[in-house]
Amino acid sequence: MGLPSVQKRACCAAVIALIASALSACGTDAPLPASAYGDVVLDSPSARLAAMNTLDARVNSVGFRLSAANAELCPNTGPITGMLLHSETQYADYLRPSARADWNLDGNLPGVAAIAPGSPAEAAGLKVGDILLSVDGENFAAGNSTDASFEGLAANLDLLEAALSDGSASLLVRRGDGVETVRLQAVTGCAYPFQLDPSDDFYARADGKRVFISSAMAALSPLDDDLAVVLGHELAHNVLDHRAFFDEVGVARDLLGNWGVAPWELVKAERDADRVGLYLLARAGYDPRRAAPFWRMLSARLPHLRMAQWGHPSAGERISAVELIADVIVEQQASGRPLIP
Ligand SMILES: [Zn+2]
Repeated sequence: MGLPSVQKRACCAAVIALIASALSACGTDAPLPASAYGDVVLDSPSARLAAMNTLDARVNSVGFRLSAANAELCPNTGPITGMLLHSETQYADYLRPSARADWNLDGNLPGVAAIAPGSPAEAAGLKVGDILLSVDGENFAAGNSTDASFEGLAANLDLLEAALSDGSASLLVRRGDGVETVRLQAVTGCAYPFQLDPSDDFYARADGKRVFISSAMAALSPLDDDLAVVLGHELAHNVLDHRAFFDEVGVARDLLGNWGVAPWELVKAERDADRVGLYLLARAGYDPRRAAPFWRMLSARLPHLRMAQWGHPSAGERISAVELIADVIVEQQASGRPLIP
């Protein structure tokens, strides 16, 4: 299985590497509405960065668990570390001074933004706030940029990704006033990075290579078990290789799509993703019985979900279906049978 190269997106210029995800942030855009950060009081760039980091860390953590637990079901696998990276240069003017002051970020050098519990990055002793200086003896490029840009960080992530392609790497990291050497040993997991998009829109989607969730949507999911319902559903679209089908009919893959009348095949694809998604999250140790109350909460907050959407069953139908599937999974767990969807 080849490693996907670092991906770049135009808007918000998010960069993702397979083995080390980079968190996303808007470039030169104006500050996002506070609703993009969930129900928190925000009155400073520092508070916004902290709120976004909390959501990023949760998506990183749930994404790591889903990826690590489901390698045998994923068509694409590769080395994963559970480490989320960012750089000073990815932040826009209004966030950059705080990114530097709060996180010790330094130009293009990768800084550790989050570490998934139970991950190789945690086992290696990496800490949030570490700045990566070199990998296997090769220095990461320092340097800076005036405008918010992912180019410099992306080049450094390419270097890290290449070094970790054999599963392990030796990192030199700056921690406080000292420098430490860290041996990082990746594990094999699903090769579909999970990415938080800073946005006040509610969405989650998969494109066959990655899984995306908006920050507003992540903030609507109070428990990690709830977040796992959304991310598990989207990961299931990739596991089931729905992308080929979706590309053919040229539609967006959106959890909450709403564009008219859907062909039956799309509704079936959504039902399959709901079902397989519950297995993926249960295999990762999350509670499949959270799916029904989560959908109830979601349809209360987003009333349009109560009716069938384009390509999506109605929330009521989904709730009945996921309750039945969760019962089956819990029964399988109780009898010690393997959880194979
Ligand atoms: Zn879907």
